[in-house]
Amino acid sequence: MPRHFGPYGGAFVPETLVPALQELDGAWRAARKDPAFRAELRRLSRTLGGRPTPLYFAARLTRRAGGAEIWLKREDLVHGGAHKFNNALGQGLLTRRMGKHRLIAETGAGQHGVATAMIGAALGLRTEVYMGEVDMERQRPNVDRMRLLGATVHPVTTGRRTLKDAINAALRDWIANVRTTHYLLGSAVGPHPYPSLVADFQSVIGKEIRRQSTAAFGRLPDLVVACVGGGSNAIGTFHPLRRTRVELLGVEAGGVGGRGPGAASLTRGRPGILHGSFSYVLQDHDGQVAETESISAGLDYPGVGPEHAWLRDTGRARYVAVRDRDALRAFHWLAEDEGILPALEPSHALFAAVHEARRRPRRERIVVTLSGRGDKDLAVVTRAAR
Ligand SMILES: *Cc1c(COP(=O)(O)O)cnc(C)c1O
Repeated sequence: MPRHFGPYGGAFVPETLVPALQELDGAWRAARKDPAFRAELRRLSRTLGGRPTPLYFAARLTRRAGGAEIWLKREDLVHGGAHKFNNALGQGLLTRRMGKHRLIAETGAGQHGVATAMIGAALGLRTEVYMGEVDMERQRPNVDRMRLLGATVHPVTTGRRTLKDAINAALRDWIANVRTTHYLLGSAVGPHPYPSLVADFQSVIGKEIRRQSTAAFGRLPDLVVACVGGGSNAIGTFHPLRRTRVELLGVEAGGVGGRGPGAASLTRGRPGILHGSFSYVLQDHDGQVAETESISAGLDYPGVGPEHAWLRDTGRARYVAVRDRDALRAFHWLAEDEGILPALEPSHALFAAVHEARRRPRRERIVVTLSGRGDKDLAVVTRAAR
């Protein structure tokens, strides 16, 4: 498993964390080759997670677009309502295998914290989640969910009291407790081996797309589309298809549009180091990490996984930014055409997919990864003017 993707990736961390990252790398390599580990991962993915998720033909959305067929990979049906389960389960099983009994995580919107708390409960691992005080106020229901699932939520009161500060707090905890504790990182970001490891656990998405599209329409799709926050659902979609002719399109959060940065690291950032990894980062003129803004909390991150940086530079994948208001339009299209309330994150991908479908012939097939369901976003959507 690569440590670098072209010039990107690596592990820029304090020395105290190097042994823990090596241990994780070793445990994961051994686990991948261990039939018992793979069987357990597969069993719990099915019986706890609800996998495989269906590939759904969105007939009415296709008609609205008036071009290529649009199919949805239904990660919104995974336990917990998003793809984050796939990664949390994999890392939870690795934690047990390393003989550790405590999980820590950071969370911004709370979705990854909830996924971690779910897995911590199911596997009997003590779970503590760091969350900025500001985010705790904004995402009250997810704080309640984590607590009901038995996790301890630590309010972070330093800095701007949001995700970046929560990551720093989690890292401090890990440095102090590295022998008993696994840091369950929530996206395909951070130092090696996390980007490769998270891509591995999320690749179940792309593998199922490969199998299901062949069964449904006799071949691979022409294009796959996925939203990009840190990039885990997108890399899970792209990875198993990267050596085929399938076009790969990643969709970032464009925010309100105009000159604002949104949270579009690949389309508006430049290379730099953030959270232990060299990749694209949204920065101001002085190289300070920029403040991001997006209607979807899950995409609101100034960095992106290093493999996406390399897919972008080599041209193997394309990346575009979609504005808040267009994501909202796509949210309503899916609700009214298909009876599905999507999360606002994949609503960005849906908008881009409809745009692509319009310009393509009817014989082409587009698969969009619907990374999560929209229940968590109802307050935001109903508040926004249509
Ligand atoms: C967290 C989240 C994302 C963004 O994370 P990635 O690592 O980029 O996949 C996207 N969609 C949903 C539903 C999420 O909860």
